[in-house]
Amino acid sequence: MRVDLRSDTVTVPSDAMREVMAHAPVGDDVYGEDETVNSLEERVAALFGKEAGVFTPSGSLANQLAIRMLVAPGEELIAETFSHIVRAELGAAATFSGITTRTWPAERGLLRADDPMEIARPSSGPYQVSTTAIAVENTHNFGGGTVQPLDEIAKLHHAANEVGILLHLDGARIWNAHVASGVPFIEYAKYFETVSVCFSKGLGAPVGSMMLSTKEKVAKARIWRKRYGAGMRQIGILAAAAHFALDTNLPLLAQDHRRAKFIAQQCHDVEPSVINPAFVETNIVSMDLTQLPLSASEFAQMAKDEGVLISSLGPKFARLVTHIDIDDAAMKYAADVLAATLKRALMAK
Ligand SMILES: *Cc1c(COP(=O)(O)O)cnc(C)c1O
Repeated sequence: MRVDLRSDTVTVPSDAMREVMAHAPVGDDVYGEDETVNSLEERVAALFGKEAGVFTPSGSLANQLAIRMLVAPGEELIAETFSHIVRAELGAAATFSGITTRTWPAERGLLRADDPMEIARPSSGPYQVSTTAIAVENTHNFGGGTVQPLDEIAKLHHAANEVGILLHLDGARIWNAHVASGVPFIEYAKYFETVSVCFSKGLGAPVGSMMLSTKEKVAKARIWRKRYGAGMRQIGILAAAAHFALDTNLPLLAQDHRRAKFIAQQCHDVEPSVINPAFVETNIVSMDLTQLPLSASEFAQMAKDEGVLISSLGPKFARLVTHIDIDDAAMKYAADVLAATLKRALMAK
């Protein structure tokens, strides 16, 4: 058996999704004439209570377009230390937009409104960098799929608003946050000037993300998307996959969450220091291997030898992610392999 838990991006489109893609009405999207893209942009904007949305090939681009709309060159975006924007977008904010960043650290990526506000320096005058935006990641990827508390988001919005700082939501996995917490998308989004979402993570589409905001900001972002070379033509086939994902795959995320918890529990039963199952709120299990006499990449290799693929993201940090292509049999197999691997690693101590 081969069970790929490296990420929820490894899913392949189902036959039913491919069927819908094959028959999607399309047009030239650079001319604004692809009706499947147009209906997806309207649908997702409405879902999040925003005026408009622009489809992008990746979540990184959706994030980058959004923060470009909020932060001028030489100004500052602040974000959590292990946020995707700061750690996993290859310096795009600096490279393309002249945006500088500073970071605050948070246990499991969990938002406490006071943390960013302590380092925020709005209107810093002619000598120091001014903070103009704050990014919040929900769920927090490297934090282990952490769902951000709505009261802290509201508190941050209030504090930031008072000093003229705008908020961006990196909602690549906002779907998971919604399914885990029951908080409506509109409720999550209303505190943010810009929002990015991904269809190619847990929702299982092959490609596609979206940046959401006001009509004005989205119109501007559309120009920047083209400037960056991501003006696309008959991409209704991709938008159709996203429509299908929202119709069919969104409710399935609850199963991913249950399966991640199961795997975490089985690992915890062998070695409690590795993962606290109570912290597994969504589909990500981040494993802390500090108490084990081997590195995360060695651990990942041992699991891989038994057919279970996980990511090693730091010297002692491994991550596994459940997704739509993992059923209960795959879950049980992965949990057994990981538990046995942990046992073997501990015996080597
Ligand atoms: C995956 C991800 C993105 C976007 O990644 P792409 O690979 O560029 O689509 C953005 N933010 C978070 C938190 C992510 O996990």
